[in-house]
Amino acid sequence: MVSSASQNTGKPACANLSAPLIGGIEAGGTKFVLSVGTSPTEILASTTITTADPQITLMQAAGWFEQFDQLQSLGIASFGPIDLDPSSSRWGHILETPKPGWTGCDLRGFFARRFSIPVGIDTDVNGAALAEFRFGAGRGAVSLAYITVGTGIGVGLVIDDKPVLGLGHPEMGHILPRRAEGDQDFPGVCPYHGDCLEGLASGSAIAARYGKSLSDLSPDHTGRRWIAEYLGQLCHTLAATVAVEIVVLGGGVMQTPGLIDATRNAADMLDQGYLPGRARQRIVMPQLVPGSGAVGSILLGQLALQAGHHPR
Ligand code: ZN
Repeated sequence: MVSSASQNTGKPACANLSAPLIGGIEAGGTKFVLSVGTSPTEILASTTITTADPQITLMQAAGWFEQFDQLQSLGIASFGPIDLDPSSSRWGHILETPKPGWTGCDLRGFFARRFSIPVGIDTDVNGAALAEFRFGAGRGAVSLAYITVGTGIGVGLVIDDKPVLGLGHPEMGHILPRRAEGDQDFPGVCPYHGDCLEGLASGSAIAARYGKSLSDLSPDHTGRRWIAEYLGQLCHTLAATVAVEIVVLGGGVMQTPGLIDATRNAADMLDQGYLPGRARQRIVMPQLVPGSGAVGSILLGQLALQAGHHPR
């Protein structure tokens, strides 16, 4: 069980901070969640800083970690796209992103040089997926997908305890869905694809469509049905491609009352009883406290320590 974490930037008086510590950074487009713990399930302190330009944000994060003398390693679970190839000269760099100032940021290298400790990095959704797989909704399963539906849509897929990586990390938020009946006019908000899944069903898309959040729409509003249908299509695609056992749906949009049930129903309707594994696929909310991303970031730090990802 994860202990409750402090929400201030000082050292918590009661925590065992003389033990070897692992740091974690959940790097998001609007905030960075910084944590330290003795293991992924024993987080002792955490704080949140606002994501500003890289120089300010990284210095603030480093300043918080510098108070912990026993820091052994650090894990970063970040928004993407990221170069995840350890043999690449850009390993751990943010690749081309619409977020101002962040393209080319050497996220991993900054902390590796600053602290001279092993630093691991993966996507935020891969970190969260691995954490839920090991400690949360996926315990005992072979495969799990973690979907975040927030400003964007991201998916981390873990099979046999390994995040799936191909030519870079997958970007399943950008699959091209079938339009929901009646939803023909909205062009979508993805700057690359227009009406990909993220372009149609992310928090940004919902804001562009309605000028408010999904929770603020009336319970019988067609928008609620459409968003559930698009997320149901993603669950169906995951079942059809890799027959994934557990689908964890996280992120701010999933806090909308009834959305998880509507998504399950949509996935059932889309499948029409065809896929052998769909009926056994479980579509659930995240189970980890204080959050799958924070636990995942510490887990990435622990894996970096074990693997000895040394600075360069
Ligand atoms: Zn897209």
